[in-house]
Amino acid sequence: MTDPDTDSDPDADTDTAASLAERVRAGDLSLHELEDHVDADVAARARRLLVEEQSGASLDSIGAYGFDAAAADANIENMIGAVQIPAGVVGPVSVDGGAADGDYYLPMATTEGALLASVNRGCSVIDRAGGATARVTASGMTRAPVFRVDSVVEGEALASWVRDPDNRTKVREAAEATTSHGELKEVKPYVVGDSVFVRFAYDTKDAMGMNMATIATRAACEVIESETPASLVALSGNLCTDKKPAAVNAVEGRGRSVTADVLVPREVVEERLHTTPEAVAEVNTRKNLVGSAKAGSLGFNAHVANVVAAMFLATGQDAAQVVEGSNAITTIEVREEGLYAGVSLASLEVGTVGGGTKLPTQSEGLDVLGLRGGGDPPGSNADALAECIAVGALAGELSLLSALASRHLSSAHESLGR
Ligand code: NAP
Repeated sequence: MTDPDTDSDPDADTDTAASLAERVRAGDLSLHELEDHVDADVAARARRLLVEEQSGASLDSIGAYGFDAAAADANIENMIGAVQIPAGVVGPVSVDGGAADGDYYLPMATTEGALLASVNRGCSVIDRAGGATARVTASGMTRAPVFRVDSVVEGEALASWVRDPDNRTKVREAAEATTSHGELKEVKPYVVGDSVFVRFAYDTKDAMGMNMATIATRAACEVIESETPASLVALSGNLCTDKKPAAVNAVEGRGRSVTADVLVPREVVEERLHTTPEAVAEVNTRKNLVGSAKAGSLGFNAHVANVVAAMFLATGQDAAQVVEGSNAITTIEVREEGLYAGVSLASLEVGTVGGGTKLPTQSEGLDVLGLRGGGDPPGSNADALAECIAVGALAGELSLLSALASRHLSSAHESLGR
């Protein structure tokens, strides 16, 4: 930690780091073993010395982080410091959710100029319209191991075994014995030749749940292997599907399936967005629907990934899950009252406990939303976070589609982003 108020002696730490670096150079220690000998901050300093020497890079900025490195011990190995990403807020925006309720500043971390300005404009339009509505419509973190069987006869037998209610109970009891929060909700078999995939879906409450689901599924697989001829090949068989673009997540959902919508009066569209409901609807149809279909895209939206990524970074979510988090469809309709806009995110994997959420700056990001830690009832904080991200995505869609409809996009980027 680089805080001058700590009682460690910086000169002594520098000497210790230098001698540790020397031991690594001499082959006496490995880079990953340093924390066995010194605290995490000194270990990071020793690694910086080695990397600086080898690469010629100066790591002064990466080394100037503002938290105790030990706080990140479950989040990273071979730590050398921290990359800092500018963080800001948009809003406040009013959310009428199943779990979220009230006016929220939405924390976002990004390096893309003009992004927050654009989403903020969408938030102010939503507020002028009386706020957005949001609901989590399905929830379940999945893990799908793959088993080897002899033939389709054995494959069908395994699928039937898994569907049998008594066997389901055995599998559920084994899985749930590994966690005090997780609940097994669904087990679905898929047979492909002599491979059988079994997709387990869990209610993981306020945790994103990937570790929880993996540990629970391992226990469930032991029951399957002990009671059937099937042999486990891999605990993850890619039908889960984690961190890869996949239609199964778009159709069946993963994490939270969440929708946010708003009805914006015609005069607000005209005054604030300088366009008309008809023009925004045409852009949505030709770009988000026809264009995405022609491109063979999985997401049918303008830039949901922008908001998902920025809010994931600001609140400690797993950044690689932006892949499935941005699997969203934007719907726009002209109604008598004005412009109806909705964004449905099929597979938003979020948590307010576990993973990166406990890191100091990320916890503060969750504090901005009032959603740090476990909710009451369990699961309500993660539901509320999903609803807030969906409303942020809706604001982003409204603003960008309107900028395209009014042909303001390139001028906004020119003045704000360069
Ligand atoms: P975790 O940090 O491994 O575990 C969170 C734990 O918090 C839960 O297992 C639960 O313990 C406990 N908990 C306390 N209060 C809770 C509440 N209100 N609701 C739910 N749980 C509560 O986190 P995770 O969400 O399972 O996994 C996220 C991590 O997995 C991230 O670091 C991510 O990068 C990583 N990840 C792992 C894989 C993988 O294949 N393993 C894949 C992708 C990402 P109990 O279970 O004992 O109740």
